Amino acid sequence: MFSYVTANTTKETHAQLTRRQTLLSGAALPLAAAAAPTATLVAGHSATTMPTHRDFTLGDFRVTTLLVGSRSVESPQNIFGMNVSADEFNEVSAANFISTEAAQFFFTPTVVNTGSEVILFDTGLNAAGTSKALNAAGYETSDVTHVVPTHMHGDHIGGLTDESGNETFAGAAYVTGQEEFDSWAKAENEGFNAKLRPLAEKMAFFQGGADVRSGITAVEAFGHTPGRMG
Ligand SMILES: [Zn+2]
Repeated sequence: MFSYVTANTTKETHAQLTRRQTLLSGAALPLAAAAAPTATLVAGHSATTMPTHRDFTLGDFRVTTLLVGSRSVESPQNIFGMNVSADEFNEVSAANFISTEAAQFFFTPTVVNTGSEVILFDTGLNAAGTSKALNAAGYETSDVTHVVPTHMHGDHIGGLTDESGNETFAGAAYVTGQEEFDSWAKAENEGFNAKLRPLAEKMAFFQGGADVRSGITAVEAFGHTPGRMG
């Protein structure tokens, strides 16, 4: 569901993880969670009152997280903290003011502006929501030079095309993990067939450890999906 970006300078950020974020990282550490205000993680808090983007600087890069959607999901331990007992999960959650009844999901594609390129990691649930948040952050869809789906779940590839199948980021190059693409391509998946397969000819692929672009290294984060990349 979430995406995160690894660049040369993230070590320090990771070292500053809170207990709450460490718990979440059992599944996947959302970079956006580090940038999101703690209050927004309280279940039931309306996402409509939240800003749709946040900017921060990472080395020479300007990073913008886009909030393109949110929803509440019941029984969070079915997804997070599966490696600990219910008692421990409840105790750590309570100590960090996190509801154990529902988790609030935030869909946060991330823009990395390197100065010469505008790289969009993941595309959200649909083209309209992502375009709107992108515009609010000061970007046009035509500004995006590269689109990098971290994995092929619907909340990451949904915004690649609109409902008519038109490319949202028509001027962009597409780059994604080879293993992830191959595993979905073998399956008959409706979302993949609708969003990814039509773009396959344009897609370039990378492996773990490769430079996605200069200064951005792909990290294998397999498990959430067969070939998910960070
Ligand atoms: Zn996912």
